[in-house]
Amino acid sequence: MKSRDIGLFGYRIRSVERKNDVEIKAAYCTRPGSCPRCASKRIVSKGPYSRSLRHLDSFGLRSRIEIQLRRWQCKDCQRSFVPSLPGVGRGNHSTEPFRRKVYQDHHDGICASLLARREGIGHASIGRIYAQFTYLKAQERKNQTCPAVIGIDEHTLHRGQRFVTTFCNLKNRRIFDVVEGKSQADLQGFLSALKGREKVKVVCIDLCSSYRQLIRKWFPNAKIVADRFHVVRIVQYHFLSFCRALVPELKNRRGLMVV
Ligand SMILES: [Zn+2]
Repeated sequence: MKSRDIGLFGYRIRSVERKNDVEIKAAYCTRPGSCPRCASKRIVSKGPYSRSLRHLDSFGLRSRIEIQLRRWQCKDCQRSFVPSLPGVGRGNHSTEPFRRKVYQDHHDGICASLLARREGIGHASIGRIYAQFTYLKAQERKNQTCPAVIGIDEHTLHRGQRFVTTFCNLKNRRIFDVVEGKSQADLQGFLSALKGREKVKVVCIDLCSSYRQLIRKWFPNAKIVADRFHVVRIVQYHFLSFCRALVPELKNRRGLMVV
């Protein structure tokens, strides 16, 4: 079996045993190029070292991988260190593919307590894993460029809460970002860091939006377009008011409109 067959790269697989769980024994034989502290190349082996990590399930069974490696010492700064392993975060007790799967399961709606019971890990570990990947995804999103056609609208997440502004990519109909607040001052930080603002061609907003000025400032080359949903809503609102003025009973009996 090769390292890539288990979703990790750079290891030599020594054995795979099936007991209660699947136990994989692997070795990491790559010699580190230099000391991580002083970058000296004068490093010597201090002896064997091993790490036992939870890995992705195999054929419906839990699996653990035991990685044999070496501890090293720098001859210049005397610091001893264990090299970082591919696909394993520093200080973690599980591999990155396993953590990514836990994150995805939790993100897809499996609650933390059920997931912790199913995977045999602590409730707090689920929280830490979720926080780790959420942070990574937020970092990735920071580097995204702004879509060419966007929609901007404000709403509250919960009753009594402050407003948030949603930026939507109207080409793929997905939310691009959600920012707390709706005023110029609230959105200034986000908009000033947004990449590709000058390439935005169309910004779609509601008719009585306070965003007009903001769009002219931050999206200088964009056309402001009225959102069809809000146009229809305003027409409907005035039409209803007109009907009510003509027939006052409509206020409590909207079913009459159908007739
Ligand atoms: Zn050193």
